[in-house]
Amino acid sequence: MATVSLRNIEKKFGAYTALKDISLDIADREFLVLLGPSGCGKTTTMRMVAGLDHPTSGDILIDGRRVNDIHARDRDLAMVFQSYGLYPHMTVRDNIAYPLKVRGLAKPEARRKAEAAAAKVELSNHLDRKPAELSGGQRQRVALARALVRNPRVFLMDEPLSNLDAQLRTVMRTHLKHLQREMASTTIYVTHDQVEAMTLADRIVVLNNGRIQQVATPAEIYARPANTFVARFIGSPPMNLLEGRIENGTFVHAGGSIRVDSTADGPVFLGQRPEDICLAARGAGHLGGTVYAAELLGDAVLVAVRTGAELVNVKMPPDCRLAEGETVDLVFDPSKIHVFDAVTGDRRECVPSPAFANAV
Ligand code: ATP
Repeated sequence: MATVSLRNIEKKFGAYTALKDISLDIADREFLVLLGPSGCGKTTTMRMVAGLDHPTSGDILIDGRRVNDIHARDRDLAMVFQSYGLYPHMTVRDNIAYPLKVRGLAKPEARRKAEAAAAKVELSNHLDRKPAELSGGQRQRVALARALVRNPRVFLMDEPLSNLDAQLRTVMRTHLKHLQREMASTTIYVTHDQVEAMTLADRIVVLNNGRIQQVATPAEIYARPANTFVARFIGSPPMNLLEGRIENGTFVHAGGSIRVDSTADGPVFLGQRPEDICLAARGAGHLGGTVYAAELLGDAVLVAVRTGAELVNVKMPPDCRLAEGETVDLVFDPSKIHVFDAVTGDRRECVPSPAFANAV
């Protein structure tokens, strides 16, 4: 298949700079997800790889070859977009076979390949239907099969599941992941949905304001977000970030204090994920607070605790019974504390001491 590289890409629309210094190497057969909020530059990045748009400066390489001046149709890429773009007057079979037809493949061969692609997305029983006779998920699968049928070097997918309801999205996500492995294709996938990114990606690129914030595996991004933007973007609910100061190795907050090793004094955000904090009786933990709300999620109870002026989310077991207004202590897991510079938002390295757990 193919590698894709972006080298110092900048993209301007008039005076507005949509992408700033984007450099990225995507490995052969990698599933790379571009993740970020609306307007961060995901689609613009994708369109430039596709050849539908051109960088203001910088290079795009496919298999090591500069493709800036190569036309979209000669880049051997297949695209799946949010709008399926199916031909309403054609059957499912003809829609899927269309890219082969325009490339001049003989009809029986095109038909055979289209039927094989339809089988991969479990559409074999619907080959003679028209798009209007299909559900949203089935239409999405036709669009996918139409991309698969050419066996391209690179797949580009821009929010392909966003028109589907939540349940169907989960099912299609599983199909997509399986198919991508089966096809062994290089894939660039755009989404603003962090769950989709976490579940599908080999690596995630988090973008904000046209700049790369972090490139890492989902596990690494979750465990070691590079800055407060990434920390706030990943996780449901996201990481708690408490504003305070480090003084002599101790994080000082209006709700109490926590020992934090190996970080310089100064204003910081102390981060911890809701599942890494637990609640204890008053006096037994690090920060004191009162229960603001408790929501049963089914497999857990999400407890919001007010400490100082901030709300901290804590994921507790489903049998946890806490009423609004109860006083509790927040107990932080010392091995899973994150510290971010309050000014730059960047992650600070923090090495927890083994003795820390006893030093509450
Ligand atoms: P979304 O998730 O909403 O699709 P995105 O991350 O894909 O967002 P882009 O579509 O890449 O964002 O747009 C990035 C920025 O560039 C936005 O601020 C957008 O308004 C701007 N932009 C995109 N295309 C153009 C254009 N043709 N002319 C001017 N500005 C544009």
